[in-house]
Amino acid sequence: MPRVYLAAYGCQMNVLDADRVRDLLATEGWETAGEPEDADLYLINTCSVREHAEQRASAVAGSLKRWKAQRPGRRIGVLGCMAQREQGELFGRLPHVDFLCGPENYPALPEMLGRLDDPAVTHLAALEQHGEVLEVEASRRGGAFQAFVAVSQGCDRTCTFCVVPKTRGLEKSRAPEAILAEVRQLAAAGVREVTFLGQTVNSYRWEGTDLGDLLRAAAGTEGIRRVRTITHHPAHMTERLISAFAEGGPICPSLPMPLQSGSDRVLAAMRRGYTVDRYRRLVDRLRERVEDLELTSDFIVGYPGESEEDFEATLREVRAVGFLNIFAFKYSPRPGTEAFPLVDDVPQADKERRHRLLLDAQAETSRARNQAQLGRALEILAEGPSKRDPSRLTGRDRSGRLVHFPGQAAQAGTFVQVRLERASGLSFSGRACIEES
Ligand code: SF4
Repeated sequence: MPRVYLAAYGCQMNVLDADRVRDLLATEGWETAGEPEDADLYLINTCSVREHAEQRASAVAGSLKRWKAQRPGRRIGVLGCMAQREQGELFGRLPHVDFLCGPENYPALPEMLGRLDDPAVTHLAALEQHGEVLEVEASRRGGAFQAFVAVSQGCDRTCTFCVVPKTRGLEKSRAPEAILAEVRQLAAAGVREVTFLGQTVNSYRWEGTDLGDLLRAAAGTEGIRRVRTITHHPAHMTERLISAFAEGGPICPSLPMPLQSGSDRVLAAMRRGYTVDRYRRLVDRLRERVEDLELTSDFIVGYPGESEEDFEATLREVRAVGFLNIFAFKYSPRPGTEAFPLVDDVPQADKERRHRLLLDAQAETSRARNQAQLGRALEILAEGPSKRDPSRLTGRDRSGRLVHFPGQAAQAGTFVQVRLERASGLSFSGRACIEES
């Protein structure tokens, strides 16, 4: 059987796409190789959102020239956003790459691979944007107890710094029947926690069905104990959806909802579609209605024109809102975005300093907030041994709090009541009180 090795960079959507491509190829007789040395085909699923992710994928693709020369018949495919953004130019930089496949063309992969069997065929590309979402049987992803499920792909928004609408196209929601069939298949294969993914997951809509309806239906699926969601856009958070989160149960009160900046001037320049005040009022409404809600946020520092005052405003918001965690990025111009031609006028040293100060502010806020949680007993889904200390397990509660506690690797996938004893900047240590199945 031919064997494929698949490397994925970037967001969870990319990781999920890689899984789905693996499943699709498995139905065509491809085995997954654990190491590149064992593979006949090397696929790199790329990300274009940050310059760094593209550089890493390019470095890997460059280094594969030797890998390909080691055995006749080996092929290299570049998938995803970088292939879509660079198009045929990528072959100029990396001529040993055999084919490119954009995020909306994965269903065409088996046919492309068939065509590459013809020695006369080189350098294929499938980069049309026609709105097709790859539908694959989910049953093969069984065995694990957590799984991602894409509810939509692409994005209709026009944030000036973001390349996603270009590379992944406009938003396409999947039919609720397909999503819920996937959830049922995953549950039957042992999955207990599903995470619904969308670039703006809360703008999901299919005729009269919104994300809240999907959450309720997934929460009612036998075997499913938790349903999570990534990523929410503040402008699409409706009262109807807040009501679904307020119902609780398997619907987790954990919301990744990027603010991006604490300055209205910068938010307007980024074309985010909300003000800081609107975001704050939304957070207040969510906290009033959704018990034990925790929010996480992305921030970009050093967007063109960001002044010290703008950055101070971001620091203030990080301290005032009280996020569970934040992800901070230093702005880098991305080709194909509206912001690309703008002068990247914030010096790198200032970007570095602002980045560090923002993370420090979050660490300080987290420490204070986490202290207030000590003594609570939380239901933790044990995800596996801690990376630092294999005699301890790592897991999360419904709100997304990261907890380490003594336990055995065999407990992975079980729900354990853990009493929180100590808090650090980003996580908790605790001890099991009662174990559940
Ligand atoms: S909402 Fe904005 S940042 Fe998020 S994917 Fe869409 S364009 Fe990009």
